Amino acid sequence: MNIAKVVVDVPASQTNRVFDYNIPDKFTDIVHCGMRVIVPFGPRKVMGFVLEITDHSSFDKLKSIDDLLDVTPVLNKELLELGKWLSNHTLSFYISAFQAMLPQVLKAKYKKEFQRKNGAQLPKELETIFAGRDFVSSDEFIERDGNYRLLQRMIEDDQIDVLYHVHSRETIKKETILGLAKEPRVYAEKIETLPKQATKQREILAYLLDQGGDVSQKRLIKDLKTTRATIKTLIDQGLVKETKKEVYRNPYKEENYKRTTPLGLTEEQTEVIKPIWTSIDQNEHEVFLLHGVTGSGKTEVYLQAIQKVLAHQKGAIVLVPEISLTPQMVKRFKGRFGSDVAVLHSALSPGEKYDEWRKIQRQQVKVVVGARSAIFAPLKNIGIIIIDEEHETSYKQEEHPRYHTKDVAIHRGEVHKCPVVLGSATPTLESYARAQKNVYRLLSLPHRVNNQAMPEVKIVDMRDELHAGNRTMFSRTLKEAIEERIKRKEQIVLFLNRRGYSTFVMCRDCGYVLECPHCDIALTYHRKQEKLKCHYCSYEEKMPSACPSCQSETIRYFGTGTQKVEEAIQELIPTARVIRMDVDTTRKKGSHEKLLNQYGNHEADILLGTQMIAKGLDFANVTLVGVLAADSMLHLPDFRSSEKTFQLLTQVSGRAGRAELPGEVVVQTYTPEHYSIQLASKHDYDTFFQKEMSMRKKFQYPPYYFLTLITVSHPNQVKCQEVIRTISQLLMKHLAKETKILGPTPSPVTRIKDRYRYQCMVKYKNEPKQREILNKILVVFESDIQKNDLLIQIDLQPYQLM
Ligand code: ADP
Ligand code: ZN
Ligand code: ZN
Repeated sequence: MNIAKVVVDVPASQTNRVFDYNIPDKFTDIVHCGMRVIVPFGPRKVMGFVLEITDHSSFDKLKSIDDLLDVTPVLNKELLELGKWLSNHTLSFYISAFQAMLPQVLKAKYKKEFQRKNGAQLPKELETIFAGRDFVSSDEFIERDGNYRLLQRMIEDDQIDVLYHVHSRETIKKETILGLAKEPRVYAEKIETLPKQATKQREILAYLLDQGGDVSQKRLIKDLKTTRATIKTLIDQGLVKETKKEVYRNPYKEENYKRTTPLGLTEEQTEVIKPIWTSIDQNEHEVFLLHGVTGSGKTEVYLQAIQKVLAHQKGAIVLVPEISLTPQMVKRFKGRFGSDVAVLHSALSPGEKYDEWRKIQRQQVKVVVGARSAIFAPLKNIGIIIIDEEHETSYKQEEHPRYHTKDVAIHRGEVHKCPVVLGSATPTLESYARAQKNVYRLLSLPHRVNNQAMPEVKIVDMRDELHAGNRTMFSRTLKEAIEERIKRKEQIVLFLNRRGYSTFVMCRDCGYVLECPHCDIALTYHRKQEKLKCHYCSYEEKMPSACPSCQSETIRYFGTGTQKVEEAIQELIPTARVIRMDVDTTRKKGSHEKLLNQYGNHEADILLGTQMIAKGLDFANVTLVGVLAADSMLHLPDFRSSEKTFQLLTQVSGRAGRAELPGEVVVQTYTPEHYSIQLASKHDYDTFFQKEMSMRKKFQYPPYYFLTLITVSHPNQVKCQEVIRTISQLLMKHLAKETKILGPTPSPVTRIKDRYRYQCMVKYKNEPKQREILNKILVVFESDIQKNDLLIQIDLQPYQLM
């Protein structure tokens, strides 16, 4: 068994397979499947994953594995298989699929260096960068704006070589542990012989004797108010020994969470949990769609389902959208399961994430709570997978490999023979349609716990406000309602949908809009730094004082940001205390939690925020929710815009009246008659489902049809158009007659970072050969992709249509 089959980190169609390598003697029995190795590949060294170890290869001259990146496998057998499946499922390279399953710090980075070959003379432009040296790092080359074309020519002429160094950013945190270096009995005498003034040294020795074992240096320094220097003297005298112990960074300290016990389930909860328990008990895979109105006690159902899983000595994965991975949500799981819980959250530092991951890898935790990528948690024995707020689009990964978390969850659920629970107050049409067809099993919680009423929703027509002379962003109804709550010492949540509501800058004289010079998109105004920024590339410029086109000074920003709303509230109701939660106020670690705590302690009357506050908040004292502009999402060019509006309004309304006090919701809109807004205000999911399904059927969208979005990008517009045309012709020729191909057309944002973008969309009912055909298309363009900067993106389940 001295041959390893390795997938190498060279993402290209031709290299998307295993390569055989010799395992040198020194690594025999050390290399295992799922480990990362360094192997020679052509002239360079690359990282690779070992997929298999055998004693047979059909090639006779094999290169050898150079080095190991891991001591133990980072991917187990199941995850290796999952990676292969993922790669086929999303049409991505094996290497991208494997990388996607690992925490960031394990994604080894390469350091590239350019080497002058045996004293070669370089063109002047390059010589200034090399400055007599033989090596220049790629970072430096980029930083000093080196000429790549010249460099390439020199590489072709064999004057410069490219070297790759792999270095891993993996960081393991270590703690210093102090102990006695000698037998305890010798210390009595030693303490005597220490100099008189060495009281601290004596104290330290006494302390260690007293503890009778190893003590963390940090604790000792704190307890004795001593210094590392003092400890060092003892170490140097051979009296104290130090060792390094690996520790986990633990951002969620158990002692901060009050333990909770299971609540007595309501009748409805009991009914829905039964089949889930049965599936767990009988080790049978089944997909459940838990449709429960906001506040119906879905989370308690999750908790008690997990409890059953733990009783079977198995583990659980709970996925929540990034945005609702609020401290409140974490508290509920940590509160119930304590140190059995690992949390994978994007706000953790890479080191913290890596520590949580290692706890899972070593099976030291049983419950994993996290956002999208936590679906790859290396738990060995999974008893349930839960996806909360299953309708959230953040479950779709928008870069390679473009997977939907739901598909991965169901795949792992099949492998582990365990239930998958999809929970939502507003399931996607796709899921609900599947439940109607009994592909998923529908479980319903139609009432709130203890039968609290759903909040009453008032729709305010903002056109009437304008006619009545009210030019503020608050309707009279909302203003009065806010004032009334403040008087009653109740709290208010104000929601502003930022998406499609950007703060762009326009000249009032000539109508000139400031756009990014590299992307076809308006720049966004950032008030704090007085800067204009592009949301697609990182371009930024200073806010101009005059219009670049007509020199007029009436250049202003438009649109409404949370800052502007905050100012407007202060003007309208000066006594209101406001907490604003948006990307700006929550950037610092822990600030999210701090703001929520302040609000929970009633240090403010109004919580004002964006998407970030739409979900998961559970504050008993909130009796009013105001939605400032309900239709800002309705008119986006996306066939899901009605569904998204319905979901958002339902979620936001769900924040009101969750305890004894009844809730009220005020929805401000310019299109009060739209069915999304009407039906959300009546909490009528079923009618919305029927209505929206008929629209989807009429316009041939999912769930009636499947979609594939193909996007081509290239710096040259003509090239881009040519390629997309060829692709749609190939698709037309090889796909079924019933299949429709829309386009090719320019993408909604036609240029990003100086690259043109064109797309075509495939709409189909049944296309079993589609993947194969698309793969062939990628092969056709392989050389353009590798050498000519062409990019072809294939999304087999597109969500971002803009
Ligand atoms: P959802 O996740 O469906 O929005 P939650 O699980 O957050 O609902 O429940 C809403 C509120 O009801 C929470 O404060 C929760 O503690 C409480 N709750 C849930 N189940 C019960 C129960 N069986 N008995 C009493 N209170 C419950
Ligand atoms: Zn840009
Ligand atoms: Zn102008």
